[in-house]
Parts: sequence; C-alpha cells; structure tokens
Amino acid sequence: MTSTLDTSALDGTDNHLVRPGTQEYDEARTLWNGMIDRRPALIVQPASTEDVAAAVRWAAEAGQPVAVKGGGHSAPGYSMCDDGVVIDLSRIDHADVDPVTCTARLGGGALLGDLDRATAEHELVVPAGAVSHTGAGGLILGGGFGHLMRKHGLSIDSLVGATVVLADGRVVDADEQTEPDLFWALRGGSGNFGIVTEFRLRCHPFGREVYVCAPIVELQHARAALEIWRREMVDAPDELTWNNFFRGAPAIEGFEWVPEHLREQPVLMMPMIWAGDPADGRREIEARLALLDGLVSASTGGVMPFVELQSLFDEVFAHGRRHYAKAGFLTGLPDEVLDVLIEAMHRLPHHASQIELMRLGGAVARVPAEATAFPHRTADWPFNLIGLWDDPAQDPEVRQWVRDLYAALEPHATGGAYVNYAGGEEAGGSRSAYGDGVGGRTWDRLVALKRRYDPTNLFRFNANLAPAE
Ligand SMILES: Cc1cc2nc3c(=O)[nH]c(=O)nc-3n(C[C@H](O)[C@H](O)[C@H](O)COP(=O)(O)OP(=O)(O)OC[C@H]3O[C@@H](n4cnc5c(N)ncnc54)[C@H](O)[C@@H]3O)c2cc1C
Repeated sequence: MTSTLDTSALDGTDNHLVRPGTQEYDEARTLWNGMIDRRPALIVQPASTEDVAAAVRWAAEAGQPVAVKGGGHSAPGYSMCDDGVVIDLSRIDHADVDPVTCTARLGGGALLGDLDRATAEHELVVPAGAVSHTGAGGLILGGGFGHLMRKHGLSIDSLVGATVVLADGRVVDADEQTEPDLFWALRGGSGNFGIVTEFRLRCHPFGREVYVCAPIVELQHARAALEIWRREMVDAPDELTWNNFFRGAPAIEGFEWVPEHLREQPVLMMPMIWAGDPADGRREIEARLALLDGLVSASTGGVMPFVELQSLFDEVFAHGRRHYAKAGFLTGLPDEVLDVLIEAMHRLPHHASQIELMRLGGAVARVPAEATAFPHRTADWPFNLIGLWDDPAQDPEVRQWVRDLYAALEPHATGGAYVNYAGGEEAGGSRSAYGDGVGGRTWDRLVALKRRYDPTNLFRFNANLAPAE
C-alpha cells in the first residue's frame, strides 16, 4: 500500500501527508458514524485549491481512487475508503462574510458552525443544517435541509458560485454564467463532479435571535397531535418550521426541563421555530401550542440566539455512535402512516434512535424542480429513520427496526430519497436520490454530466453516478 505510493510529485506543495501506523492517521480516518472503520493508503490534507489540484492530478496519474472528506458526517461513510487516497479538506475551513455584498466565502472543509458564527456577526444567515459539527461541503452539495428552509430555501438555493477542482486537476469557477451545467449539477449532485474548495453563498438578513418552542407529547396522545400538525402544516406560513422527532426524550445538558419520568422514554417531540421576528414568533407559536392543549406533557419555549439553537443538538448527535439510516418522502400522511410510526415507537431499540417526519413546502417548493439537481421540490413530507446506538451487540436489532419501518412506509413513499439522509441501501440505490424526479430528466442529465466531467469515475465514493450507467 503506502510503500508503493511515490508521493514525490507532491513535494513542494502544502499537502500534509498522513500515513498509516500513526495516531494522526487513526484520528484522520475516523468518521462521525462509529460503524465506519476504513483504512486508506494515504490521507492528504491540502491547505489551498492549488494543493487540492496537485493532489488530484497525482492520484489520477497513480491510478488511485479518491475519496473526499468534508466534515466526515456521511452516514454510509462515503468520505473514507479502504486503500485509495482520501483528500481531507479540514484545513480549508475559512468562513468569510462580506456584509456589503451579503455573500459568504466558505472553505470546502468548513463546518456549519463556522458558517453560522461568521454570518451571525453581521446579522445575516445562510440556510443550512441543524447540527453545528456537520460538514458544510457534503450538506450543501446534496441540497441542505434546515430550520430556515421553508423561509429561505435549501442551502443550494443560496449558492451563487463555487471553485471546483475537476477530475483532470483543472480548477474552474462555476456559476450561472460560467460552467452553468456544472453549477446545476453541484446543486444536489453531491460529490460526483469534483472537489469544491470554496462555496460562495448569498446571505439573508436575519436577527440574531429566534423564538423556539419544544413540546413533548407522550405516545398515547401522538396520533391526535399529529393529526393537528398534518392539518396545520398544509398552508403554514413560510416562517414556521414545525417538525416531528419521535425518539427517547433527551437526558443531557440543555434538556433539564424534561421531566424525570420521560427521560430516555419514547416520546414525540414537536419543535417549532419561527424564522422571523421573535415577537411574531411568540404569537404564532403560542397559537399553535394552544391547539395541542391537553396533549403536551412538557414544553419549553422562548427567545434564543440562533447560533445557540444550531448547536443544541450537537451532543444528541455526538461523534462515534453507531448509525444506520433509511430515508424517503411520503406521498401523503394517511392515518395508517401515523399509526405505523407510533407503533414503531413502542419498539424503539435505543433512546437515541429516532424517526424524523418533516414538512417541506414554502421556499423549497417555489424553485422549479429542473432549476437544480435536487429533484424532490414538491415532495411534501420527508422522513428519516435513524438508528443510533452504542453497543455493537445491538447492530442486528437496530438495523432490523429501521428496515422493517422503511418497508412498512414504502407503499406510501415516492421512491425517492434525500441524498444526504439516504443510508445507501434504499431501494433503487443512487437512483432514489436523483432518479424518477422530474420524469427521470434529473438522472439523465446528471449521468451525462458525470461522463463529461469525470469520465473515469475518479470521484466514486458518493451516491455515485457511474459513467457506465
Ligand atoms: C449529526 C448529523 C446531522 C445532520 N443534519 C443535517 C441537516 O440538518 N440537514 C441536512 O440537510 N443534512 C443533515 N445531515 C446529513 C448531512 O448533510 C450529510 O451527512 C452530509 O454528507 C454531511 O457532509 P460532510 O461534509 O460532513 O460529509 P462527508 O462525509 O465529509 O462527505 C459526504 C459526501 O460529500 C462529499 N464532499 C464533502 N465535501 C465535499 C467538497 N467540499 N467537495 C466535493 N465533495 C465533497 C464527500 O466526498 C462525500 O461523498 C446530518 C448528518 C449528521 C451525521
């Protein structure tokens, strides 16, 4: 492996090389999902776009497949390979905001917390995910769901340009005018087309604080609460994010308000967040909370700094736990589906595992489906079945719980899946991420562009669009 890799072509670049057999190597190959244990021949940590280009040219010439690591949060572990070369972008993590042009320049290896902190300083925001240690790279390239998406769209809807190292080592800037096909493909096509060393993102004016509320509903009342949620979310204002997390109620710092008897017990958490003036948020959210009167066992609410909200779930989703997930979109929410979800909660295998049921719509649905490579714009109800646990002995049980639940939901699902939630084993594989959306045209265009930009499939560790398909 390493002994056969001649890296002399990288001499004179600022690529830090991490080789097997060192503690540094073991740290660098560790991903968020504790089930992934892969050993690349070499991990390259570039400091600049030029270093990335040199590393790509070298790896291609050496015939080495290349995995690209952003924040390392890919559930199936796409950012780490056995043998081959990993280009780890963790040193390219700048987050610079220009308040005059309202744009952010974000390094390809930056984390969401870097972005949120940099934008908040200027009372700006870029809509992105909800856990601050998630990598921005993978999240943006797959679409980018988050608390603000109904108001401000997916992360890709705020992407205005990107610097990309292509499979042949060329560096290009992609935006609506230059390389428009590539720019289209980057907005949903995941890591298939090249290595993004810098994202340029439009920022949106946003106060530093938001109004939030987190009601907890016990399972015997979950059906009634979900019926109200289903009705209310059909034409809810864009500012309102109101999602469902079936899980064990957290028993960690920040959740001291959860009553003792509910901690780590299966419940339905229904957090509401108002992406606008907190005073409006209080009024709007309290009105909805009143609809749940008699169904809520515990609740907390108030004004909170947005950056704090963005890291509230960091520990819930701490690094290193075992993880297995399947995801999709429901075509509707008939009573039968609600009952399937509630029934599964009576068999929750671990308190950290969870079922997420969300509502898209709003700004996400107003972007035409063909404008970007994210084809699920009009799929209203995303779900994410997350197995999260610690003991390897529980692997079969948790996997089976996820698989059984997915199978029960399949008849009510579109067959598509959000590429960043997909666990890699959904029916249809990569096709579920891009597949039949927009009459299959997204898939066809992506496959054609993959042939153009990466004909040898150098970038294959992702929801792959193999050129041969
Ligand atoms: C705790 C947790 C919370 C999450 N929350 C959300 C959420 O709120 N919203 C949401 O939409 N998703 C969320 N996700 C899913 C998340 O979007 C994906 O896991 C995403 O892949 C993470 O990106 P990453 O850079 O950390 O991943 P990595 O594992 O580093 O990479 C994932 C894929 O993207 C590619 N990639 C990464 N960076 C680049 C780059 N700069 N250029 C080219 N290719 C690149 C990699 O090669 C790989 O194929 C969450 C995941 C976790 C584990």
